[in-house]
Amino acid sequence: MEQASSIIVVGAGIFGLSTALHLARRGYSVTVFDRQPYDESRYSYFQGADAASADINKIIRSAYGGQAEYQELSTEAITTWHEWNAELASGQTVPPGMSSRDQVFVPNGNISLSSDTELPTWELACIEGMEKAGHHNTQLATTNPYHCDLAADRALSSHMDPFQQRSRGKQPVGVLDTTGGMAIADKACRFALHKARAVGARFVFGSKAGCLQSLCYEGRKVTGIITRDGHMHNASMTILACGAVTPVLLPELDGLCEATAGSVMLIKIPTKSQLWERLGPENFPTFTFNVRAGSAGGLYGFPRNEDGYFKIGYRGTKYTNPIRHRDGKERSTPVTRWSKAERDGMPIGTHLTDFPRQAFRVIQSFLDEYLPELQKEGTQATTTRICWYTDTFDNHFLIDRVPGKEGLMVATGGSGHAFKYLPNIGNWVVDIMENSKMDRPAVQAWRWRTLGKEQPVNHLMQGSHGPRALGNIAVHKESELKQASVTRL
Ligand SMILES: Cc1cc2nc3c(=O)[nH]c(=O)nc-3n(C[C@H](O)[C@H](O)[C@H](O)COP(=O)(O)OP(=O)(O)OC[C@H]3O[C@@H](n4cnc5c(N)ncnc54)[C@H](O)[C@@H]3O)c2cc1C
Repeated sequence: MEQASSIIVVGAGIFGLSTALHLARRGYSVTVFDRQPYDESRYSYFQGADAASADINKIIRSAYGGQAEYQELSTEAITTWHEWNAELASGQTVPPGMSSRDQVFVPNGNISLSSDTELPTWELACIEGMEKAGHHNTQLATTNPYHCDLAADRALSSHMDPFQQRSRGKQPVGVLDTTGGMAIADKACRFALHKARAVGARFVFGSKAGCLQSLCYEGRKVTGIITRDGHMHNASMTILACGAVTPVLLPELDGLCEATAGSVMLIKIPTKSQLWERLGPENFPTFTFNVRAGSAGGLYGFPRNEDGYFKIGYRGTKYTNPIRHRDGKERSTPVTRWSKAERDGMPIGTHLTDFPRQAFRVIQSFLDEYLPELQKEGTQATTTRICWYTDTFDNHFLIDRVPGKEGLMVATGGSGHAFKYLPNIGNWVVDIMENSKMDRPAVQAWRWRTLGKEQPVNHLMQGSHGPRALGNIAVHKESELKQASVTRL
């Protein structure tokens, strides 16, 4: 593909932002369209920004069990996260509304905790994988006295026991990934947007001029897009990076990608609370808990942020919102408190502020046991959020050309773990567009694929009668949650 070619990217979440940044760096003429007014909302969920990437924080980690391809990708990303922090601090690149005191990455570590009595296989594989790659003593097991001493030397003892289990006579079981921490998600997106613009990428935001209405075709070749304001935009390559909306826009993704909901709760810690210091990022890592324990587990969380929000999420059940589309097929369709009843000409149901009872129960029992101080303080859930992931059946991303449609690519399928690659995933997308270095294991894993005889990691397309459909599960009204103490509903 000629460098002079014009490329359209649809979607300015992390896939779109990163792709635009790297395309522009390599000299392509790139225009990104997004239906959301990100210059106004600044990627803030509280300002109505409605995307997986628009959030207060996201976990960053290197350790990936035996998945060396993601471990290497994380290592590459984390190097750049540190560079981005340095670039911000130097005052060289400061997006509007941010200051050189801001950070986009907080390296407070990520601990993977378990209720087992011994380290689970996955955690052991994380230590082995990182040691094998030469990242010695970056993974510290809470059950290993030598690792505990190393943590103490690095002033990380509180991070090794973030829920102070030892004080209750319990042994924490987990591995602290000291290379990890968290991205300050909204600021990181703003930083990437600013950098992409600085190297020449153009961004068209808004519900009309920025919203993809349809693709343009010449025969089987996609020649660009038509936006909701009726304008046609030509491109030699169109890259769809519309997050959880992508499988709704592109029916060819049936069975490969699906929008699924995670349940997120924000609890405001008062500045005067005893927990303020303890849950701050200086003392508290990001954490996951019983991630591979099915519907009874799948928790993750963060230190309280500068506004006092302590965020905890549940992913043990991946809920869906199957809606029948014009072709008669049901597809899970993202719906949130910010959704309109109809979007892009497609019905999506009503907006949603309710919270799955199951998610609440699992979060509640975790907090009761691991952070009983919250109950003592009678702290309330300040906000709940249903946030939409784009899952593939095998949890690998999807970055490839769309079969049978020349000039069309997808960069999606984040499957709950793509944010950390904001600095570098676009470089890989551009390589793939250029058919360069295609034999790398990650690139192979991200190819367009169909489910064979293997057991899928995620069972997709279970439809409106399925057990995970939001219409079939019990929910709490948000008002109920706000009135009750977090731990006493
Ligand atoms: C609750 C939650 C927690 C997560 N936690 C982590 C974590 O801790 N660590 C981690 O690494 N990853 C995490 N992830 C995964 C990560 O956030 C996602 O993989 C990533 O943000 C997806 O980015 P995206 O660009 O694919 O989609 P999105 O961020 O959803 O962006 C898609 C964009 O497309 C736009 N769009 C949609 N339709 C159209 C249209 N018709 N026209 C124009 N624009 C359109 C949308 O407005 C949106 O801006 C989490 C995800 C969720 C949902």
